[in-house]
Parts: sequence; C-alpha cells; structure tokens
Amino acid sequence: MKVVCPLHIEYICRHCRQKIGEVRRPDWSLADAEARLGVSEWTEAERLDSIRMNPSGTMQVYTVCDYCHHAAKENPELLVEGKLLQ
Ligand SMILES: [Zn+2]
Repeated sequence: MKVVCPLHIEYICRHCRQKIGEVRRPDWSLADAEARLGVSEWTEAERLDSIRMNPSGTMQVYTVCDYCHHAAKENPELLVEGKLLQ
C-alpha cells in the first residue's frame, strides 16, 4: 500500500480510543516506521489487530494508554470484551 507523505502515525488507546500521540516523519517510509515500532517482531495477527491504515493514509497504531494500563492491572474485571467500562 502506498503511503501519502508525510508519513503520519497516530497512537490510539484500544480501550478508551484516546489519542495518545502522533508522529509525522516525512523522511520515513512505511518500512522505517514499522522498524521503529518493532512490527517485524509481531505476529501477523498482532499486526492486523494493532495497525490500521485509514483512508487518508494515516497509520493508526492501537496500543494501551497509561490510564487503561493501570486500570486494567488493578481492576481486570473492568475489562469486558476488550472494552474498559468507565
Ligand atoms: Zn485508554
């Protein structure tokens, strides 16, 4: 898939959908971005689950924000089918 320049990566919490951060690197190719993210060590399933390309060419990386990370650790029962009840 061709990526629109500049390469734009958004990090989004998979639980609360909050945008955690973003990176714009005109000098990166998609391969560079994947290398930085460590994607090459991920399984195909993890890759499909965690990375989405949206129609405008933004690469969205689904991860877990600090808040949800701590909340899930302290209250694992709050996690219902991957969604955190707040
Ligand atoms: Zn979160």
